[in-house]
Amino acid sequence: MAEPPLGPVLHIDWTRCDGRGLCTELLPELLARDKWGYPVAITGAPTARSDVAITPRHLDAATDAVALCPLLALTIVGSSR
Ligand code: SF4
Repeated sequence: MAEPPLGPVLHIDWTRCDGRGLCTELLPELLARDKWGYPVAITGAPTARSDVAITPRHLDAATDAVALCPLLALTIVGSSR
């Protein structure tokens, strides 16, 4: 079993997402798009691609992605922001 991340995590709710990819443009080092266009974590287990560990240098961009997601499909878990 994989260790859970210690820092903040960007959670993607694929049931809300329309797969247009704005967040992948804001976080190209953390997110890619699957063959349907939905954002997925670049790294991590295939079964955990909706939870993206956020490095400190990506926290501002992740916060922007949460604020700009038109479908409120993104949340940051485990951050004081
Ligand atoms: S910005 Fe929101 S709706 Fe758009 S691809 Fe990302 S999670 Fe989905």
